[in-house]
Amino acid sequence: MPEQQPGVAVIGGGVAGLATAWHLENPADGARCNCRVTVFEAASTAGGNLRTEEAEGFRVEWGPNGFLDSEPATLELARAIGLGPDLLRSRDTARRRFLYVRGRLREIPDTPARFVKSDLFSPGAKLRIAGEIAVPARRDLGLAAERLETDETVWAFGARRLGRAFADTMLDPMVRGITGGECRRVSLAAAFPRMVELEQRYGGLFRALIALRRHRRRQPGAATGGPTGVLTSFTGGMSRLPHALLAGLRGEVLTGRPVSSLASTTAGWTVTAAGRRYGPFAAIVDAAPAHAAAVYHPHADARTLLAGIRYNPLVVIGGAWRRDDVPHPLDGFGMLTPSSEGSPLLGVLWDSSIWDHRAPAGAILLRAMVGDPAWLDRDDADIVNQVAGEFEKIFGIVRKPLQYWIFRHKMAIAEYEVGHLARLARLDRILAETPGLFLTGSSYRGIAVNHCLKDAVRVADAVRAYLERGGNA
Ligand SMILES: Cc1cc2nc3c(=O)[nH]c(=O)nc-3n(C[C@H](O)[C@H](O)[C@H](O)COP(=O)(O)OP(=O)(O)OC[C@H]3O[C@@H](n4cnc5c(N)ncnc54)[C@H](O)[C@@H]3O)c2cc1C
Repeated sequence: MPEQQPGVAVIGGGVAGLATAWHLENPADGARCNCRVTVFEAASTAGGNLRTEEAEGFRVEWGPNGFLDSEPATLELARAIGLGPDLLRSRDTARRRFLYVRGRLREIPDTPARFVKSDLFSPGAKLRIAGEIAVPARRDLGLAAERLETDETVWAFGARRLGRAFADTMLDPMVRGITGGECRRVSLAAAFPRMVELEQRYGGLFRALIALRRHRRRQPGAATGGPTGVLTSFTGGMSRLPHALLAGLRGEVLTGRPVSSLASTTAGWTVTAAGRRYGPFAAIVDAAPAHAAAVYHPHADARTLLAGIRYNPLVVIGGAWRRDDVPHPLDGFGMLTPSSEGSPLLGVLWDSSIWDHRAPAGAILLRAMVGDPAWLDRDDADIVNQVAGEFEKIFGIVRKPLQYWIFRHKMAIAEYEVGHLARLARLDRILAETPGLFLTGSSYRGIAVNHCLKDAVRVADAVRAYLERGGNA
C-alpha cells in the first residue's frame, strides 16, 4: 500500500535527479517500485541545464548540444521513456572539427596522412607528437590517482606524452570547450579516466590505438571502450529528455522549492524547502550541484569539500543569420580557440550544420560560448556587438543577426581540478557514516549528460539496496 512505502527525496530536478527518480520507480529487473519519490527543484521548472528555446523555426539549446551514443544507459533510458523515435543523429559533416589558430580556421586532422599535411603544427611539433610511441608510461598513476600526489593535469599529461605544442594547441581548447576551464588545472584521472587507463594498459596512446584497431579487426563489433560514438540529440532538442522523464514519473515533482536544510531524525530524514519542512524520508538523493549542496549538507567537513568543487561560468550566445549572409561554408561541427589566441570566445558550435531541425530553410544558427565571468554582467547589446566583431573576423559575417539569444550560466560546469578523486574519496567516507544520504549529478563522477545518466542507475540501485536492508547502511 502506498502509505507503507518508504519515501525517497530527490534534491534537484536536473537530468541527474529526474533520471535517478525514474530509475527508482522503474527498476531494471522489472521489480515493483517499493518507494515513493518526491523531487525538490529550486527553479520554477525542472530540467536543469537541458532547456531548448523555440522561436520562428529556430531551436536553440540553452545548455548541452547532445551526447555520444556510446553510453548504453542514455540510449536505454531514452527508449524506455518513449524517445526512441525522437533520437536524432548528428549529420556526417559534423565529424569535421576546426581550431581557430594563428588568425584563421584550420581543420583538425583525423587521419595520419592529413596530420602530416596539416599546418596546425610545426615539423618539430609533428615529430614530437609522433614520438609519443616511444615515451615510457608513468606507472605511478592509474588507480593510485586517487592520491593527490600522483594526480596529473591534462596539460601535464599531454606535454609529457605528446609535447607542449600539442598540449597548448589541442588540449587547451578541448578542455576550455568541454568545461569552460583550464587544462593546467583539470585532473586527467577525474575528467578523462580513459586516457589514464590507456597509458597504463597499453603503455601509451598510439600503442593503445594500434592494439584497439587490431582487436577490432579480429573481433568486428567488439566494444573497445574508447571515447567513440556518434553525437546524438532529439528532434525536439535536448529538453525532450527531462520532459519525457517528468511525464513518466509517478512521484511528486515540487518546483520552486530550493532545499535549505537536511536533518536526520529518529523517524528518518527531513527536508526544509522554501520555508517548509517535508518528511520523514527513508533516503535522500542529493542531485543538486555541489555548490548548492555545500550550503545544506548536514556534515561540516562535507560542506567544505563540496564548496571546494570549482564551477566555471559560461555565457552562451545564439545567433541566426540568412544563409546568404554567411560567406563561410560552415561544413563541420564547429570551432574551438586555444587560450593563446586571446579571443573571448571559447568556441562556436555550428548548430544548424550539426543537426536537422535547428533552423528554417535558408537560415543558419550558430552558438558561441564565452567563459569570462565579466560577461555575466554585460548588457545584451554589448555582448552581441563584441560577438559580431569576432564573427566578422572568423567567418566573414558582416550583417547583424536576424535574432539572437543570450543565456548566462553563472555556475555552468564543474571543473574537476587535480585532487578531485581524493576529494570524492573523502566525501564517500563521510557518506558511509551518513546512512540514507546519496550524492549524484555532474559535480562528481563525470560532467556530461551520459555520465549523469550512468550514475543515476548506480545511485538508484544503491538506494534500493539500502531500503531493502531496512534502511541500514
Ligand atoms: C552551456 C552548457 C553546455 C553543455 N554542453 C554539454 C554537451 O554538449 N554535452 C553534455 O553531455 N553535457 C553538456 N553540458 C553539461 C550538462 O549540462 C550536464 O551534464 C547536465 O545538465 C548536468 O545535470 P545535473 O542534473 O547534474 O545538473 P543541473 O542540470 O545543473 O541540474 C541541477 C538542478 O538542481 C537544482 N537545484 C540547485 N540547487 C537546489 C536546491 N538547493 N534545492 C533544490 N534544487 C536545486 C537546479 O535548479 C537544477 O535544476 C553542458 C552544460 C552547459 C552549462
